[in-house]
Amino acid sequence: MEIEILGAAREVGRSAISIRDGKTNIIMDYGVKLQEIEDVPELTNGAGKKDAQPRPPMPAKRVSAVFLSHAHLDHCGALPILYKKESPPLYATAPSLELANMMLKDSMKIAKKEKYKLAFGKKEVEKMNKGAKSIDYNQPVKIGDFTCTLFDAGHIPGSAGIFLKHRSGLTIFYTGDINTAQTLLLKPCMLPNKANVLIIDSTYAMKDHPDREQEKNKFLTEVNLSAKTADTCIIPVFALGRPQEVLLMLEKHTGLISIDGMAKEASEIILKHKKYIKDPKRLSRILENIAWIYSDEEREIAIKQFPIIITTAGMMTGGPVLFYLRNIKSRPETKVLFTGYLIKNTPAKKLIETGTFSNEKESYKVLSARHQFDFSAHAGRSGLMHIIKTLRPKHVISVHGENCQEFAKDIMTEFSRENSAISQIKAYAPKAGEVIRI
Ligand SMILES: [Zn+2]
Ligand SMILES: [Zn+2]
Repeated sequence: MEIEILGAAREVGRSAISIRDGKTNIIMDYGVKLQEIEDVPELTNGAGKKDAQPRPPMPAKRVSAVFLSHAHLDHCGALPILYKKESPPLYATAPSLELANMMLKDSMKIAKKEKYKLAFGKKEVEKMNKGAKSIDYNQPVKIGDFTCTLFDAGHIPGSAGIFLKHRSGLTIFYTGDINTAQTLLLKPCMLPNKANVLIIDSTYAMKDHPDREQEKNKFLTEVNLSAKTADTCIIPVFALGRPQEVLLMLEKHTGLISIDGMAKEASEIILKHKKYIKDPKRLSRILENIAWIYSDEEREIAIKQFPIIITTAGMMTGGPVLFYLRNIKSRPETKVLFTGYLIKNTPAKKLIETGTFSNEKESYKVLSARHQFDFSAHAGRSGLMHIIKTLRPKHVISVHGENCQEFAKDIMTEFSRENSAISQIKAYAPKAGEVIRI
C-alpha cells in the first residue's frame, strides 16, 4: 500500500492524501492553502506585486474516487482541479457537499475580484457535482478492494473522519479535522475500534486547550461589557461552525447581534441539515432574532445599532470584517474578539500581535482592544493522544500542523514506554510528495 501526502505536510493548508494499492487510487481531501504570501517567494512576481492566489496540493492522476472530510477550503478548495481531465465520483455528507459548493463559488468570486486566475472554473465544478454522491456516517461504500466509511468528526456540521478497510485486512483512518470534545453546536467525534494506520490532524499537537467553560465566561464578560456600553465588538469568524457556536453562546444577547458575510448563507445551509447538529431548534430560534446584514448601507446602520457584530473572514483576509474594522479602528473603547487559532502571517495574526492591520492594499493602526479566545474545533494534544490510544495503530502519520515533526517524535517516545500496550508505533511527519509504503 502506498500513502502519498500531497499536501498539509508540516503545514496547515492544502490537505490532500492519496491511498493506492496498485489498482485503485483514493484521494481524501484536495484543499488549498490560503495566502501566506511572505512564506512563498515564488508567488511574488518580478514587479514585487504580491499574488494572493491560493496554492493547491501536489498533482494527482488516475483517481478512482474522492472523499471529502469537510467543507473548509483547506480541505475542499482545490477539488475541481481533479475534474480537469478525469471524472472520479466524489463522496461526502450532504451538508459537506452543499457547503463545499458555497465555498468554491466564493473562491471564484474572490479570484475574479482580485484579478487572479484560479486553476479551475465553473465547468470543473459542474463536472464534480455531476459525479457527487452524498453519504451518511456509517454507510460504507466499496471502491475497488477498499470499503470506505465516514465517521462523525465533531469539527463542523457534516465533518467526517474517513475509514478505509482494504481486502488485505489493512485498515487506515484519516481523522480530517477532528474534535474529541463536545461543543454547544456538535457532539464529540466518533472513532472506529481500531486502525493499522492513523493519519492525524495535528493543529494542536503541542498544546491542550484551556478549560472551555472558563474561556466562555471570559469571552462573555467582554461581550457583556460591550452590550452594556453599546460600544462595538467585532467577532471575526470563518463561515462554518464557529459563527453558529458563538451564536449559541450569546443566546441572551440575540437582539444586539448582527451577522454578516458568508456566515449567513452557511447558517442557512446548516439549518437545512438538522440531524448534523445537536439542537437545531435552538439555533433556528436565535437565527430568527438577529439582524442579517447585506449591504454597505446596512453595515453603516449595524455599526450604530448592534454592538455585537459576527462577520467573515476569520483571518481578516477579506470580507465585510474589513469594513467594520476600518470604521472602529480609532475608537479604543471598541473591541476585536478572535475566537480561535490564528494562522501564521495572516492579517488577523499580525493584528493581534502588533496592533496594526495590514494586507497588500492598506496598513493602519488599530486602537480597539484585541483579545483572543480558544473555542477551537480541533482536539487538543490530550484528545489526539486519546485517539491514538483508542485506535492502537502501528503507523501514525502527522499532518495538518506546524509542529508535525516534533509531534511524530513525541508519539514515538510516548508509546515506546514499557507499560504501553501499543509499544511499536512508527510515527511520520512526511514532506509534501513523500510516499509511505506499508
Ligand atoms: Zn476544518
Ligand atoms: Zn483544516
